[in-house]
Amino acid sequence: MNTIDAFELKNKKVLIRVDFNVPLNEQFEITDPTRINAAVPTIQKILKEGGAVILMSHLGRPKEGPEEKFSLKHLLPYLEEKLNTKVHFADDCIGDSAIQLSSDLTNGEVLLLENLRFYKEETKGDVEFAKKLASLGDMYVNDAFGTAHRAHASTAIIAEFFPNDKAFGYIMGNELENINKILKEPQRPLTAILGGAKVSGKIEIINNLIDKVDNLIIGGGMMFTFIKALGGKIGGSLVENELINTALEAIEKAKASNVNIYLPIDAIVANEFSNEAKTKLNSSYNIEDEWLGLDIGPETIKKYEDVILNSSSILWNGPMGVFEMSNFEEGTKRIALAVAKATEKGAFSLIGGGDSVAAINKYKLKDQVSYVSTGGGAMLEFIEGKELPGVTAVEK
Ligand code: AMP
Repeated sequence: MNTIDAFELKNKKVLIRVDFNVPLNEQFEITDPTRINAAVPTIQKILKEGGAVILMSHLGRPKEGPEEKFSLKHLLPYLEEKLNTKVHFADDCIGDSAIQLSSDLTNGEVLLLENLRFYKEETKGDVEFAKKLASLGDMYVNDAFGTAHRAHASTAIIAEFFPNDKAFGYIMGNELENINKILKEPQRPLTAILGGAKVSGKIEIINNLIDKVDNLIIGGGMMFTFIKALGGKIGGSLVENELINTALEAIEKAKASNVNIYLPIDAIVANEFSNEAKTKLNSSYNIEDEWLGLDIGPETIKKYEDVILNSSSILWNGPMGVFEMSNFEEGTKRIALAVAKATEKGAFSLIGGGDSVAAINKYKLKDQVSYVSTGGGAMLEFIEGKELPGVTAVEK
């Protein structure tokens, strides 16, 4: 893979597309600096090798031009502290001041450009805008995995102005390497655990994974569309009737490809969608009308744990139940623990997608799994088998 490690960085002005889209409070203080912290190794490597760094990012969703609350200048104090150096700031990402500041930049120095999305040309993927950005540096590095699925000016289009001087930063490199451990030549058996609310959000993942995995474990709200497709009674549980055929096709396809597909045997059902609801343990195939399934049951958990502990590679996306409510978190928690235990036994485990990442963090297991993807939408599109413009632009 084309990471910065393969390049001479000395005396280069390296334009890095980072993802500094961090949450700010009303005083414009950063409330979660994870994304900035993640980019530090790439920045420091370039500085250490004798290059200069020009950082470009978006922040929030400005509508029409510059807006104070979306200014990247709010990030300067934190960034300077984190990098332990002065960071210059260009209050416009293109134009005279950006050109002057970048030309004045010397090796070992850092320049941060103002929010790229103050120009609508950024999200439009405008070539002229990309060219202006490109003119600020000698080399392009993409380290913003979170926006890799977008063909924006700074995430993809700009790369064409650096035919021989473009590379991935360490975040991108890590994400691609780890996701490829699942998608390309995984250690087998490979198990995918899919949960979350809806089949509709996951169907492309299911379709792309079905001929790659050995085991497909299904939980969460989406399990009921599958159970109904098999003729089960699901009461008031979440269902997407228009996807019943799709679910059946997935089951058929799994059978044809010799993939073991696991659906819950039992479920925790409730008389309303609330943590205060009355609950009981029920077969997942015979739920009465007044009840709805909000978690997988103990027999299912045992079966799923068994499959997970006998896997060599694991991909987990989506919770097993409504884990935000303590009465329906057992399934998600036990699956998270099983993934951690399998990892301890030597399996490779990848956690991806918002709510499974939230679950891993909630149970403090982040350091006990192999890799937690930061990618969100980009990660999902990648495992759906889609091409990511930000990746292709650097690779081609
Ligand atoms: P997703 O964003 O599609 O991964 O869905 C995550 C959401 O699915 C979480 O907020 C869970 O509370 C929700 N969820 C999981 N299981 C169920 C269920 N059985 N019924 C309703 N919602 C569920």
